[in-house]
Amino acid sequence: MFSLQEKSLYVADLDLWIDSMRPRDRCYISHGHADHARAHDVVVTSTNNARVCRLRLGRRLAKPAGLFGEPERAEIRYETHDFNAPWRIGDHELTLFSAGHVLGSAQLMIEGERGRFVYTGDFKLEPSFTAEAPEVKRCDTVLMECTYGRPQYVFPPRAEVAGAMVAWARKALEDGAVPIFFAYSLGKAQEAMAILGRGGVPLTTHGAIASMAAVYEEAGVDLPPYDRYDATTFDGASALVWPPSGRALPVAVRGRAVRTAALTGWVIGKGTNYRGGTDAGFPLSDHADFPSLLRYVELAQPRKVLLNHGWRDFTHRLRGLGVDAEYLEANQQLALF
Ligand SMILES: [Zn+2]
Repeated sequence: MFSLQEKSLYVADLDLWIDSMRPRDRCYISHGHADHARAHDVVVTSTNNARVCRLRLGRRLAKPAGLFGEPERAEIRYETHDFNAPWRIGDHELTLFSAGHVLGSAQLMIEGERGRFVYTGDFKLEPSFTAEAPEVKRCDTVLMECTYGRPQYVFPPRAEVAGAMVAWARKALEDGAVPIFFAYSLGKAQEAMAILGRGGVPLTTHGAIASMAAVYEEAGVDLPPYDRYDATTFDGASALVWPPSGRALPVAVRGRAVRTAALTGWVIGKGTNYRGGTDAGFPLSDHADFPSLLRYVELAQPRKVLLNHGWRDFTHRLRGLGVDAEYLEANQQLALF
């Protein structure tokens, strides 16, 4: 039995939570973004996502602060699995395989006598420089995200987006302005670094991005040289890769000409109106676009598609193509295994 409880997925047969937003005894985490990864007693995850989570999650809260005492913290225990290295829980076989979303992002396949179930988590199908190559497996039921599940979301080829980012950064530097790319510190930032570095753009990154970049390098990802931002030494001659939170500009660019850019799939469909408070926007996404969502279903050939994290009307689009699709509702119980 599989159910959605309080916005958290629970597989009763395995006594396993999936990407739960509340602390649990034992929870599977698909990847390190904050809307999927929280501290639990035991975290079941991929080998590379454990590296990411060790940096992001730190220690878990073991006992809340009392009237007089400090909260107690304890180490999170990690149960790690390599991609395509199955393990068993009772009568079920579980396998993680790449979701291609960010470093270590995994899809979870659960196989029992009644068939194969796949939970995709966030995924994309286009290869990138910094995430493991994505994979699609045949299954009977898939629970997938549909963030960009509307037909207007068709991303241009990544090489085209990369070329435009590099040209824009170079032009800014030539004009004596500091180009600033706003990118989430896990995934998007490292991909932007790889793209810009390969294009010969010198790089400086925010400390949080540099710390995560070190985790990527530890995992064997080839990143270009970069400086960790230091307000006392920054000379304005490199592109800045910066977290989007608050869009607060670094101190060292005060008084300098700057040009800012957002990196997000939401640029698509907004036309030239999209600015998001920045001078430019590039559709660099770590999610599947609309055609990729359809391609996923075509490749996986599931008998049933369950959807969460995205547009509800994607359900109708799939049904129109003859696919049995359903949006997962809160407290819904499904017998899958
Ligand atoms: Zn994500």
